[in-house]
Amino acid sequence: MAIEGTVHLEGSMSNVGDVLLLQAKMQAKVQRTCGRCLKDFTGVTEAEVVEKFYPASAEHIENDAFVYDSDVIDITAPLREGLLLAEPMQALCKPDCRGLCPVCGADLNDGDCGCDRFTVDPRLAALKQFIKN
Ligand SMILES: [Zn+2]
Ligand SMILES: [Zn+2]
Repeated sequence: MAIEGTVHLEGSMSNVGDVLLLQAKMQAKVQRTCGRCLKDFTGVTEAEVVEKFYPASAEHIENDAFVYDSDVIDITAPLREGLLLAEPMQALCKPDCRGLCPVCGADLNDGDCGCDRFTVDPRLAALKQFIKN
Protein backbone atom coordinates (compact mmCIF):
# COMPACT_ATOMS: atom_id res chain seq x y z
CA MET A 1 0.00 0.00 0.00
CA ALA A 2 1.30 3.42 -0.85
CA ILE A 3 -0.22 6.66 0.24
CA GLU A 4 -0.90 9.17 -2.49
CA GLY A 5 -0.85 12.88 -1.93
CA THR A 6 -1.80 14.34 1.38
CA VAL A 7 -3.52 12.70 4.30
CA HIS A 8 -6.48 14.63 5.62
CA LEU A 9 -6.36 14.73 9.33
CA GLU A 10 -8.79 16.00 11.87
CA GLY A 11 -8.32 15.53 15.51
CA SER A 12 -7.00 16.62 18.80
CA MET A 13 -4.24 15.98 21.21
CA SER A 14 -5.12 16.19 24.85
CA ASN A 15 -3.25 15.97 28.06
CA VAL A 16 -4.13 13.23 30.50
CA GLY A 17 -1.59 13.76 33.21
CA ASP A 18 1.76 12.95 31.66
CA VAL A 19 0.16 11.05 28.90
CA LEU A 20 -0.85 12.66 25.66
CA LEU A 21 -3.92 11.33 23.98
CA LEU A 22 -4.19 11.60 20.26
CA GLN A 23 -7.62 11.25 18.76
CA ALA A 24 -7.79 11.69 15.06
CA LYS A 25 -9.79 10.85 12.02
CA MET A 26 -8.02 10.67 8.77
CA GLN A 27 -8.67 10.10 5.17
CA ALA A 28 -6.05 9.23 2.64
CA LYS A 29 -5.85 8.25 -0.96
CA VAL A 30 -4.01 5.00 -1.25
CA GLN A 31 -2.72 3.02 -4.08
CA ARG A 32 -4.01 -0.53 -4.04
CA THR A 33 -3.72 -3.55 -6.20
CA CYS A 34 -6.94 -5.32 -7.05
CA GLY A 35 -6.99 -8.84 -5.63
CA ARG A 36 -8.86 -10.17 -8.65
CA CYS A 37 -7.52 -8.45 -11.75
CA LEU A 38 -4.21 -7.27 -10.23
CA LYS A 39 -4.69 -3.77 -11.59
CA ASP A 40 -3.44 -0.84 -9.57
CA PHE A 41 -6.06 1.66 -8.62
CA THR A 42 -6.55 4.50 -6.21
CA GLY A 43 -8.83 3.95 -3.29
CA VAL A 44 -9.75 5.98 -0.25
CA THR A 45 -9.05 4.76 3.22
CA GLU A 46 -10.65 6.23 6.29
CA ALA A 47 -9.29 5.47 9.68
CA GLU A 48 -9.68 6.55 13.23
CA VAL A 49 -6.76 6.63 15.55
CA VAL A 50 -6.79 6.81 19.29
CA GLU A 51 -3.30 6.52 20.62
CA LYS A 52 -1.50 7.39 23.79
CA PHE A 53 1.96 8.86 23.96
CA TYR A 54 3.94 8.33 27.10
CA PRO A 55 6.85 10.40 28.29
CA ALA A 56 10.05 8.57 27.41
CA SER A 57 11.02 8.58 31.07
CA ALA A 58 7.84 6.80 32.14
CA GLU A 59 8.13 3.43 33.79
CA HIS A 60 6.00 0.37 33.26
CA ILE A 61 5.01 1.15 29.73
CA GLU A 62 4.53 -1.45 27.08
CA ASN A 63 7.33 -2.14 24.65
CA ASP A 64 5.34 -1.01 21.67
CA ALA A 65 3.93 2.08 23.34
CA PHE A 66 4.50 5.40 21.65
CA VAL A 67 6.72 7.73 23.57
CA TYR A 68 7.73 11.37 23.38
CA ASP A 69 10.76 12.98 24.87
CA SER A 70 10.51 16.56 23.74
CA ASP A 71 7.91 19.11 22.77
CA VAL A 72 7.81 17.71 19.30
CA ILE A 73 5.79 14.59 18.86
CA ASP A 74 6.01 12.48 15.80
CA ILE A 75 2.59 11.12 15.03
CA THR A 76 3.49 9.59 11.69
CA ALA A 77 3.93 6.07 13.05
CA PRO A 78 0.49 5.75 14.69
CA LEU A 79 -1.20 7.36 11.71
CA ARG A 80 0.50 5.02 9.31
CA GLU A 81 -0.44 2.09 11.50
CA GLY A 82 -4.04 3.27 11.66
CA LEU A 83 -4.23 3.49 7.90
CA LEU A 84 -2.70 0.06 7.48
CA LEU A 85 -5.20 -1.46 9.90
CA ALA A 86 -8.07 0.15 8.04
CA GLU A 87 -7.01 -1.38 4.75
CA PRO A 88 -9.24 -4.19 3.56
CA MET A 89 -7.65 -7.63 3.41
CA GLN A 90 -8.52 -7.97 -0.21
CA ALA A 91 -8.84 -4.82 -2.21
CA LEU A 92 -11.08 -4.82 -5.24
CA CYS A 93 -10.97 -2.16 -7.94
CA LYS A 94 -14.76 -2.36 -8.00
CA PRO A 95 -17.18 -4.61 -6.10
CA ASP A 96 -18.08 -6.58 -9.21
CA CYS A 97 -14.59 -6.90 -10.65
CA ARG A 98 -14.58 -9.91 -12.92
CA GLY A 99 -10.92 -10.68 -12.45
CA LEU A 100 -8.59 -12.43 -14.83
CA CYS A 101 -9.33 -15.37 -17.03
CA PRO A 102 -7.67 -18.44 -15.44
CA VAL A 103 -7.05 -19.83 -18.90
CA CYS A 104 -5.42 -16.99 -20.84
CA GLY A 105 -4.99 -14.31 -18.17
CA ALA A 106 -7.07 -11.70 -19.98
CA ASP A 107 -8.77 -9.03 -17.93
CA LEU A 108 -12.42 -10.06 -18.04
CA ASN A 109 -13.51 -6.49 -17.24
CA ASP A 110 -12.43 -5.59 -20.75
CA GLY A 111 -14.80 -8.13 -22.19
CA ASP A 112 -14.94 -11.86 -22.49
CA CYS A 113 -11.88 -13.45 -24.03
CA GLY A 114 -13.88 -16.38 -25.36
CA CYS A 115 -12.05 -19.04 -23.39
CA ASP A 116 -14.01 -22.03 -22.16
CA ARG A 117 -13.55 -21.57 -18.43
CA PHE A 118 -16.26 -23.97 -17.37
CA THR A 119 -15.02 -27.26 -18.71
CA VAL A 120 -13.91 -29.61 -16.02
CA ASP A 121 -10.23 -30.35 -15.97
CA PRO A 122 -9.71 -33.63 -17.87
CA ARG A 123 -7.85 -35.12 -14.91
CA LEU A 124 -10.79 -34.31 -12.68
CA ALA A 125 -13.17 -35.86 -15.18
CA ALA A 126 -11.08 -39.04 -15.12
CA LEU A 127 -11.24 -39.05 -11.34
CA LYS A 128 -14.98 -38.69 -11.42
CA GLN A 129 -15.21 -41.62 -13.77
CA PHE A 130 -12.94 -43.62 -11.46
CA ILE A 131 -15.11 -42.90 -8.41
CA LYS A 132 -18.25 -43.86 -10.30
CA ASN A 133 -16.80 -47.23 -11.15
ZN1 LIG B 1 -10.14 -5.63 -10.37
ZN1 LIG C 1 -9.27 -16.39 -21.55
